[in-house]
Amino acid sequence: MRRAVYPGSFDPVTNGHLDIIKRASKQFDEVIVGVLVNSKKTPLFSIEERVNILKEVTSDIPNIVVKSFEGLSVNFVRSCESNTIIRGLRAISDFEFELHLAQTNRVLAPDIDTMFLITSLEYAFLSSSTVKEVAMFEDDLEKFVPSQVAKLLRERIRKIEK
Ligand code: ADP
Repeated sequence: MRRAVYPGSFDPVTNGHLDIIKRASKQFDEVIVGVLVNSKKTPLFSIEERVNILKEVTSDIPNIVVKSFEGLSVNFVRSCESNTIIRGLRAISDFEFELHLAQTNRVLAPDIDTMFLITSLEYAFLSSSTVKEVAMFEDDLEKFVPSQVAKLLRERIRKIEK
């Protein structure tokens, strides 16, 4: 069984993340999307919300499993009985950060490899933080995120503004 883990914050999941998930699902028998509980960041969506959103938007892809995790990605990958980390690369600006992360992970866990999928061009500009900023001023979010996420974002951002 070829199993990969795609870790991230997914706060919230965007069409860019979903594109990576779909493409990875074609390369592996199973892809576990690992949603990071990061105590250093204050997320817009709670860990339960992010996991549930991801489960909903990937429900039509049979070989996707969504789980939350705390701590080091490599430990989570091991606990999933996998040796592959998937990450997405959008631009050169992602490269330096991802390179350091992958090199650190290699020192921590030489048996685990990171594989990068290059973003599809139409999503190259997309990030969770940009989408959250756009949501403050614009209702039409379906260009950036799945419709379920767009609805939740509109509700959540308005609540904060009030
Ligand atoms: P993190 O906080 O771990 O960077 P993110 O949820 O922001 O988590 O991203 C998870 C992974 O998905 C990262 O490898 C990131 O580079 C990648 N990613 C984010 N947005 C896109 C996109 N639009 N296209 C391709 N990959 C993306």
